[in-house]
Amino acid sequence: MTQPLSTSLDETPTMPTVFVGHGSPMNAIEDNEFSLRWQELGKSLPRPKAILCISAHWQTWGTFVTDMERPRTIHDFGGFPQTLYQVQYPAPGSQWLTETIEKVSNKTIKLDQKWGLDHGCWSVLKHMYPKADIPVVQLSLDYAKQPHEHYALGRELFSLRQQNVLILGSGNLVHNLNRVVLKGNSWHDFNKPFGLDWAIEANELFKKLIDDDRHKELINYPKLGAAVELAVPTPEHYLPALYILALKEASEQVAYFNDSPVAGSLTMTSFVIQ
Ligand code: ZN
Repeated sequence: MTQPLSTSLDETPTMPTVFVGHGSPMNAIEDNEFSLRWQELGKSLPRPKAILCISAHWQTWGTFVTDMERPRTIHDFGGFPQTLYQVQYPAPGSQWLTETIEKVSNKTIKLDQKWGLDHGCWSVLKHMYPKADIPVVQLSLDYAKQPHEHYALGRELFSLRQQNVLILGSGNLVHNLNRVVLKGNSWHDFNKPFGLDWAIEANELFKKLIDDDRHKELINYPKLGAAVELAVPTPEHYLPALYILALKEASEQVAYFNDSPVAGSLTMTSFVIQ
């Protein structure tokens, strides 16, 4: 017996999900190899109904989701040129997405009316969707959760991908600001490709484990050895990647972009899952 035609027509394709290494806030206002790739990415992905951003720069006790009509642009950094503080990303919020997330989490995710969009989110979205015409909601990282709990929460969000929501994790797989080595004095020099041995080693190991779907080892990253210990001295830039990996179906592929070390101790390595 043949399937009725409507079955295939009703199927909503699963939205790709993305982890972006955001690096320096200056990438928000520079046209460089990384930000140009973000622009291409925005053009190549199916247009989402809304974006859920999981940024390294919003940590809270408990998990929260932004619940506001017009989230403010937060300039959560210090010591940068004035032009960076003038950037606004006026994307609207989405009550629909906020309420959907509240529902899928059985209200374990709480609503927040104070945050907005931090630079982990807008420095990337400004290039991906410069018109700021797609609603954006942010999800916070709960200080109290263990890595496996972050991963489990990520998985709970899977149904959003089937409702045309782009889930975007923003951090850096390798991120140790205490070990930064600058090869010049300008902000531009931060992005010169250069990685310390341990940074490259950790980054290669992460990619190998991602390619082999060895998520358990990625969740238990403190057990991955000395290079990873240096690469992830604090969890916040790494955890957004766990959320995105949790959203991967076994049959899906991982495609890397911006796979480059910068400033010795960071990698911009990013990936799309689809
Ligand atoms: Zn950051």
